[in-house]
Amino acid sequence: MTIGVLALQGDFEKHEAILTRLGVASRQVRKPSDLDSVDALILPGGESTTIGKLMVRYGLDCAIQQRVAHGMPVYGTCAGMILMARAIVGSDQPRLGLMDIAVLRNAFGSQRESFEVDLPFEPFERPVRAIFIRAPIVVEVGAGVSVLSRLEDKVVAVQQGALLATAFHPELTDDARVHHYFLEQVK
Ligand code: GLN
Repeated sequence: MTIGVLALQGDFEKHEAILTRLGVASRQVRKPSDLDSVDALILPGGESTTIGKLMVRYGLDCAIQQRVAHGMPVYGTCAGMILMARAIVGSDQPRLGLMDIAVLRNAFGSQRESFEVDLPFEPFERPVRAIFIRAPIVVEVGAGVSVLSRLEDKVVAVQQGALLATAFHPELTDDARVHHYFLEQVK
């Protein structure tokens, strides 16, 4: 199994480090042909407008959408979640539109630009240590989408079939369980 990590901008190396720790091969994806040898894809945190523009420039948006139409699993963190959403409140920025969710960017405002919290994550008994950095929230969830985590009343982790998205960054912690959970979906 080889997991692709979109490597246009953002914290993709952190995802690769977790995959290495889990003993899984990863490959940086920068152009459509890089997708040929991967079984699944991770979209990192970063700046969603920048990543979106670069995806369009290199033709990766269509290439990823085609693979997902044929069942490729995708996991997005933070900016990656934004790129997976069907709708982004108040923005027409490029996106993949893979999941039936609407997101609000920078939803915690400048008062709480970044913070850490122990967060229940539905598949696990123990909470995950969740790091939020200028994070989005999910404000609309389609019928086929399950909510995996809420922070207070805000939806911050969702799954739709083999598509997983978290507003927080497990790749910035020592806790590899969310990545492990994604890899279980890939198998
Ligand atoms: N606020 C960023 C965006 O809208 C996401 C931040 C992150 O990925 N940590 O793209």
